[in-house]
Amino acid sequence: MSFASLGLSAPLLRAIDESGYATPTPIQIKAIPAVLAGRDIMAAAQTGTGKTASFALPLLQRLTSGPQVKSNHIRALVLTPTRELAVQVGQNVANYGKHLSLKSAVVYGGVKINPQMMKLRGGVDVLVATPGRLLDLFSQNAVKFSQLETLVLDEADRMLDLGFSDEIRKVLALLPKRRQNLLFSATFGEDIRKLSDGLLNQPLQVEVSPRNSTAQSVKQWVYEVDKSKKAALLSHLVRNQGWTQVLVFIRTKHGADSLVANLIRDGIAAAAIHGSKSQGVRSRVLAEFKANRIRVLVATDIAARGIDISELPLVINYELPKVPEDYIHRIGRTGRAGSTGEGISLVSADEVKLLAAIETLIRLTLVREVENGFIPTHKVPLTRDVRVRPKKPKKPKQKLDRGAGPKMEQEEQDNNTKPRRGGKPAIGNRRQKTADGRNKPRPEAGAGAAKKRLSSKPKRGAPPKNSPRKPR
Ligand code: AMP
Repeated sequence: MSFASLGLSAPLLRAIDESGYATPTPIQIKAIPAVLAGRDIMAAAQTGTGKTASFALPLLQRLTSGPQVKSNHIRALVLTPTRELAVQVGQNVANYGKHLSLKSAVVYGGVKINPQMMKLRGGVDVLVATPGRLLDLFSQNAVKFSQLETLVLDEADRMLDLGFSDEIRKVLALLPKRRQNLLFSATFGEDIRKLSDGLLNQPLQVEVSPRNSTAQSVKQWVYEVDKSKKAALLSHLVRNQGWTQVLVFIRTKHGADSLVANLIRDGIAAAAIHGSKSQGVRSRVLAEFKANRIRVLVATDIAARGIDISELPLVINYELPKVPEDYIHRIGRTGRAGSTGEGISLVSADEVKLLAAIETLIRLTLVREVENGFIPTHKVPLTRDVRVRPKKPKKPKQKLDRGAGPKMEQEEQDNNTKPRRGGKPAIGNRRQKTADGRNKPRPEAGAGAAKKRLSSKPKRGAPPKNSPRKPR
């Protein structure tokens, strides 16, 4: 199967060739012809499947015919949950469209609005936006929708998790009724199905990886280690295994900063990205990591969302995520289209329940290893001896303490305080003021990750697929 056989035009084929893509990925094979034909799409696809190109390429091709865009108007809108993802999608659109004479722009919160208003003045063919900033721009008459032909909702599940349901509905109400709709989501829970009901018109349903599964091209395993030895083990592994580009996930901003300090003390070039780092710092750090000047990038879940580093070889879970679905999102950073990767978790005894919940979700018992010199004094119990029940969303307390003792820093999380659909507040919300003094900061303005509900049901009586390996 070639890109040319999917019906793409010469300027796009040239850009694809220059990007080094030899063959289309499964989602591209299914989605590109359908989008070119003007159909609506509902696609279950994780980051790493080539989903961005699957909508961006045919979208650009369709926009090459049709009317000239008028000032302050847009012809296609891509909504994304975070500014990082917006930037990345915007870069992809610009890259794929570089041999076409179409205009694109990216807008998101947390930065000055004026330059974005200027960009929109002449009109743009493709606008990539986070929902909050888009509505702000609309309220200032900077963006108009009457010429809009196509709407893309990218990572729709994440948008709902981050509390953007109302914003999305507001945006939908502003758009022309006749339009093409493309909906992409890693998971298809009840909320997404409800959203898609009124939105999509006889959509083509595309599923490229089974729901709640991790990419098959990712080799995953666990190092059992005492909590107090994790930092030393990480430095040891980076040095001894010769790892050159490692993305490390951690739960808290403070934890990220102190781990980076530790790595640097051990002579390893490292940097952190998290919600308290400015957009400029995040972009700079990411560029240095991509250029291999930083060997270890330590990130909280929200900061890492949408990070696109092609062929990232390795993802480390320094701590397991409290929300099992985040494991899938984390591991999705490696083993991307056409490449293989490794996902390694450093697990201490106190994390066994989290490990059990993850294994239940991915339906796989992860192989365990122990590194010489780091044999844990507190053995991690076998997960089959641990019972995990799906969590129900709880009402958040005024100030949420994650139960880890008074000194432990709160996990970085979404600070959107708006009640979720159905009147239930998002789990783990906390109230903060925005830079402009509002009480409802938007996630794209640098907030942390929202907590997801555990939606998976444990597979009753299912024996583990792999039994734990003996320590080396
Ligand atoms: P996405 O799922 O859109 O986040 O894309 C994941 C990564 O795969 C990005 O780095 C893309 O540049 C890359 N990619 C997309 N399509 C292809 C393809 N057909 N062949 C190789 N890499 C691709």
